[in-house]
Amino acid sequence: MEVLARFHKSRSAQRVGLHINVYEAAPSICSFEVAGDVDADTRDVFDNALGSMIDEGWTRIILDATKLSFMNSDGIGAVIAHLKQVRERGGDIKFLNLHGKGATVVEVLGLKKFLQLYASMDKAISAFEKPVPEELYKEVQWLFFASNRGKFYHTEWCARGKRIKYRNRIRFASKEDARKSGKKPCPKCGRGGR
Ligand SMILES: [Zn+2]
Repeated sequence: MEVLARFHKSRSAQRVGLHINVYEAAPSICSFEVAGDVDADTRDVFDNALGSMIDEGWTRIILDATKLSFMNSDGIGAVIAHLKQVRERGGDIKFLNLHGKGATVVEVLGLKKFLQLYASMDKAISAFEKPVPEELYKEVQWLFFASNRGKFYHTEWCARGKRIKYRNRIRFASKEDARKSGKKPCPKCGRGGR
């Protein structure tokens, strides 16, 4: 298969870097193959890589996690941040073979009901034949994060929230969870949860 794009971040010998190869898996569907670690340190590369494919017009994306060694909530959060945009354009980001920590994050944050997870490339590809139900992308905006030091919680799309360093972010699956930890809605994104 022809490689459409490559992205990477190398690290010292002791730490696994991040390598992303993007292929055309089927007409107008790309396979975004992620190897290595997606964490606070490599999250920006991952986020920008995903964003640049979307900017190029790819809205049907299969995030192939088969060779992924680690993905924490920073990586899952980056996917969520792009999900609404691609779904509104009739596309989706579907996960293939998500395992380990990434799968645990999805489970613990209750994201299973709006992320689409597959165990085979063929199934992921054929899943694009059906549109994603609208309620799934409406619901996906109810995901929040805050700075561990700040008083406000934000949605994934808040310009003000974007300034918070990834390593300082704590995440919540609901407003209730955010409030329970003592955070208040952000004045910019907090009204109506947007
Ligand atoms: Zn905000």
